[in-house]
Amino acid sequence: MEEELQRLRAEAEAALAGISHPDGLEPFRVEYLGRKGRFTTLMRGLGQAPADQRPRLGKLANEIKATLESAFAARREELAGGPAAAQRLDPSLPGRRYPAGRLHPVTQVMAEVCAIFVGMGFSVAEGPDVETDFYNFEALNIPPHHPARAMHDTFYVDAGCLLRTHTSPMQIRAMEQAQPPLRIIAPGKVYRCDSDITHTPMFNQVEGFLVDRKVSFADLKGVLSVFIARMFDAATPIRFRPSFFPFTEPSAEVDIGCVICGGKGCRVCKQTGWLEILGAGLIDPEVFAKVGYDPEEYSGFAFGLGIERIAMLRYGINDIRLFYENDLRFLRQF
Ligand SMILES: [Zn+2]
Repeated sequence: MEEELQRLRAEAEAALAGISHPDGLEPFRVEYLGRKGRFTTLMRGLGQAPADQRPRLGKLANEIKATLESAFAARREELAGGPAAAQRLDPSLPGRRYPAGRLHPVTQVMAEVCAIFVGMGFSVAEGPDVETDFYNFEALNIPPHHPARAMHDTFYVDAGCLLRTHTSPMQIRAMEQAQPPLRIIAPGKVYRCDSDITHTPMFNQVEGFLVDRKVSFADLKGVLSVFIARMFDAATPIRFRPSFFPFTEPSAEVDIGCVICGGKGCRVCKQTGWLEILGAGLIDPEVFAKVGYDPEEYSGFAFGLGIERIAMLRYGINDIRLFYENDLRFLRQF
């Protein structure tokens, strides 16, 4: 009895799968599931089974019947216009549109930053990502064993070669190749062995510097004020705090009034109302000495800013790693 049930089930399933047109459905239903169909007939025969097996067989028969009924319903759906019908070609439908690609938010902000400085007469210079110790450190007044090296968490390629930790080496490369006046920005990727919500092992920086006769701190402040007014808002307050970098003297950290809370104090600015945005200073005479400029004749300023940091402030993003996870739902917002 059980065997007969299973055989009928297999037969019915094969027959159902073989139906390729809605017209084949009704004969199938009558043959297998109808009131006088083979399944019903078989179930009537259950009465002859031994009494101790009847409950089990009855349960099995009901299960098989339910399975066949739902398979039948699904097949009917399919033939009436389900997925099988969708595969038929309808030439009157409009074509599929491909989603438009767009620039990565970091690329967009980088382009914007460069455009602002180019507008002030700076030209763009690019250099190698793999640098020598000389350009990355020594020529920038960071000799071996200088404590400032510890702040850089450097990736070394081999002795004397490293992934640049900042774009400042381009100052040296550019000054070696030309005489003042110079007005240059150097955008590019930099690398540090560090990763958390505000650091990634690779990030983007723009280094800028200007060398000429009688360049003063006022010139630096003027250029940076114009940049910040164009990048954020003309009314954004700006302040300079004394700081230290080996290659500038004096050095300053530059803050802007918090663009999130407007200076009232919030989580992003740690309730101070200010956000650190870049480092800057007047180029140290030691650096001029390395490239053969006369520090008595020339002076200059330099600054460096992180592109991801600016992008985070611009768009209110609180985790830098979002930029590099390649989640399209995130990237499509820009
Ligand atoms: Zn704030």
